[in-house]
Amino acid sequence: MMSKKTDKIYFALIIALLVLILVVISILVFIPSEGQKQAIKQNEISQYFTSNDSADNFTKNKIEKTQNDLRSQDNLSDNPKNEAQRIENHLQNNSVIADETAQTYYFDNITYLVLNGAPSEKLNVFFIPLDVSKEFFHESMKNMLYSEGRQVSNTCGDVDSRGIFEVEPFKSNLNKFNVLYSEKEFNSSFFGCSYTDMTSIRSKSSLYCNLEKIKSSVGQKVDVIVLVGQNYTTSASPFIIYYGDQESVEPIPYQHGFVHEFAHAFGGLNDEYGGVYSYKCDGWSCHYTMLPDLCADSASSECFVRAQKEISYIPNEDIIGCPKWCAAYDRDKLFKLSESCIQKKTMSECVVGAGNCLWFNQKHPWFDANCVPRKTFEPEEDIGLDCSDPCVMAQHPRHLSFFPGCSNDNGGMMSNLVGDFNIVSKNHLQIALKCCFPPQHSEECRIFSEKFTLPPDMENHPFKSQYDFFSTCYSLRIN
Ligand SMILES: [Zn+2]
Repeated sequence: MMSKKTDKIYFALIIALLVLILVVISILVFIPSEGQKQAIKQNEISQYFTSNDSADNFTKNKIEKTQNDLRSQDNLSDNPKNEAQRIENHLQNNSVIADETAQTYYFDNITYLVLNGAPSEKLNVFFIPLDVSKEFFHESMKNMLYSEGRQVSNTCGDVDSRGIFEVEPFKSNLNKFNVLYSEKEFNSSFFGCSYTDMTSIRSKSSLYCNLEKIKSSVGQKVDVIVLVGQNYTTSASPFIIYYGDQESVEPIPYQHGFVHEFAHAFGGLNDEYGGVYSYKCDGWSCHYTMLPDLCADSASSECFVRAQKEISYIPNEDIIGCPKWCAAYDRDKLFKLSESCIQKKTMSECVVGAGNCLWFNQKHPWFDANCVPRKTFEPEEDIGLDCSDPCVMAQHPRHLSFFPGCSNDNGGMMSNLVGDFNIVSKNHLQIALKCCFPPQHSEECRIFSEKFTLPPDMENHPFKSQYDFFSTCYSLRIN
């Protein structure tokens, strides 16, 4: 048995021990390990640069300030550079861009205009000037990104010439983007550029460069390149936009069409306006001098099968009845709209006149006729039933096919370059941004990636590069 005094000593010792244990536990819990320190650091960085939708007030104010700086022309030439230098230092000190400065690249002085995270996770848009002044280059970039556009009268959205961050779905996905530029003089022959003389149908030649060579000269992952010049016509190829057409008469500003070209270059979306074609008649016979459809002159029914397959991969284009976004279509209505063409039995009768019909060498399977309608104009000529978007017919230079609403001469972003994307196009761009930046492991993204996995016989698909890219967006990444 122990005395009462001994009991007291034991009691005091037990209390002291408990306090000591508590102190040790708190130290272990609240002092981070090296790994935790790194995680906290990274978290701070990503919070700091996370864009305006999820960040705290401090971050939000900071980013709004940066964006305001960009919007203000006076500040563009100075502040973003300082900001970018600070960002670059910050990133390098925290090893987000690992080892990428070790090698010498052609574009050795890159500036960030918008930085939302590590380049491996984001859609990196890289602007390069080609024979334009620094002021012109800065002004153009600012407009292409942030211009609020101007009000016009247009059926499918009434704002013309907005910057990409003012148009949905890009506007609400700003945090998926990094924007960077280099002011180094662009050596067009070093990058394998050539001008193609298209002056018969355009007022300026088109420019084509070696995209892979440009990409590998940057020293970090870039996804879309924008070449800003003046002496070539504006066009897009996979992941590159040749923005070079400033001859437009006032008041059409320089950013006009940038968002449209971006949707071609990045999104693999097709044009939705009616294509051009021409024909020549000698005496009683006529022939096309510019084909309205790949199958117009063909003698093989395989051509139509192949064309339908090509169309099946293009998000904003469809076969008869628009099964991609409609449950069914009104066959009687379509045939009523087509009546005046279907009745014509010779090419001369078909193509001469109003030009609203197209002649096929063999019967077109959708109409079982050689002479078929070229386009339907009005919203009431939507033949779709139970659709998420209307289903209207149009003739693209490659195909006669069906397009979503706000297409054709009704006007929309992929049609007359004004206003908004139609629902089908917007949904496609939205899911591409969601699944690819960074790649997502989800059922929705697995389906998206599979949809764009092209079979070997589609090697020549006009949007093959973009769709090959989408096919890699689903991954087993687990964070
Ligand atoms: Zn286009």
